[in-house]
Amino acid sequence: MKQQHLYKKIVVKVGTNVITGKNGELDFEILSSLTAQIAALQKQGIQVILVSSGAVGAGRSLVKLSGTIAPVAARQVLSSTGQIKLISTYNDLFLQHGLITAQILVTKSDFSDRLHYLNMQTCFTSLLQQNIIPVVNENDAVSVTELMFTDNDELSGLIASMMDVEGYIILSHVDGLFDMKSGNGAIIPVIDPSNKHFHQYINPGKSEFGRGGMLTKCHIAQKLSRLGITVHIANGRKPGILLSILEGEKTGTTFLPQKPTHGPKRWIANSEGMEKGAVTVNMGAEMALVAGERANSLLPVGIVSVEGRFLKGDIIKVCATDGTIIGYGMAQYGSERTLSIMGQKDQKPLIHYDYLYITN
Ligand code: GLU
Repeated sequence: MKQQHLYKKIVVKVGTNVITGKNGELDFEILSSLTAQIAALQKQGIQVILVSSGAVGAGRSLVKLSGTIAPVAARQVLSSTGQIKLISTYNDLFLQHGLITAQILVTKSDFSDRLHYLNMQTCFTSLLQQNIIPVVNENDAVSVTELMFTDNDELSGLIASMMDVEGYIILSHVDGLFDMKSGNGAIIPVIDPSNKHFHQYINPGKSEFGRGGMLTKCHIAQKLSRLGITVHIANGRKPGILLSILEGEKTGTTFLPQKPTHGPKRWIANSEGMEKGAVTVNMGAEMALVAGERANSLLPVGIVSVEGRFLKGDIIKVCATDGTIIGYGMAQYGSERTLSIMGQKDQKPLIHYDYLYITN
């Protein structure tokens, strides 16, 4: 009988700690097991995008850095050398299952321009249509400071959202999120992120690893859950873990999805930090946007101040008078025009509701 699976399209993220040993050398046993599971899923019609860390680790096992080298430069050297080893290992392993691997390296700025974002989306869609496995990593060789993702959890979250997947699976070297209240190291099986207080149950220290740690994982899981994506955090070293999750077995921690959001709103929802400017709105507009019965556009009449210089098509932040962020949206005209018509009635919305994402 054909096995029923939970999802048709997923993003799987594997952390450095899952696939490398102490000195950064790649763990072939784990990598073979993970690639075999992905190949099995792929052959059953499930589309899988793999985001894999481990380039810096693999580089460390290859290169003995000599002399004094700044940490940023060391990361550039290690990642650019290690990425070759990482991707060629994936290439060899997927080939054993008759599958072709594609390498995609990205920086944060790749997600900030809508056209560029859509081009990336087409690339992933085309690879999946051709039954090729996209293996993604941050372009660590060139992504420095503000171009950097917090970690690969953030990067994978952006791809999960861009590709409209149903499930996002974070494979780490721990079993899930530890319940702080239980005191005995129990894992929280299910989290409903619509419960604003869920963070208090989570022990961030116990399971800290990689570049970002558990708190970023929770933050991203919460964000994706708001877009309608189910997020799993599970132990990547557990035999058959991916297959178990897809078969609906309860393992690790699952973040329940909320009402799905689609299209440009998904892009805008992930645009925090990419905004070109901001507008502050009065209480009336704030109420209409946050608590309105139906989706409302942002009209100039409710705007009280404009910050920064933005143009039509740029992402801007919408704030309340006390400075709290209400949401993000795509401006329908620039900051100069906004300044000249703010406070006026009967003007075209600055942000149409289809392009407005309210953060809470
Ligand atoms: N991109 C980094 C690498 O491949 C990992 C970043 C992270 O720890 O999330 O080594």
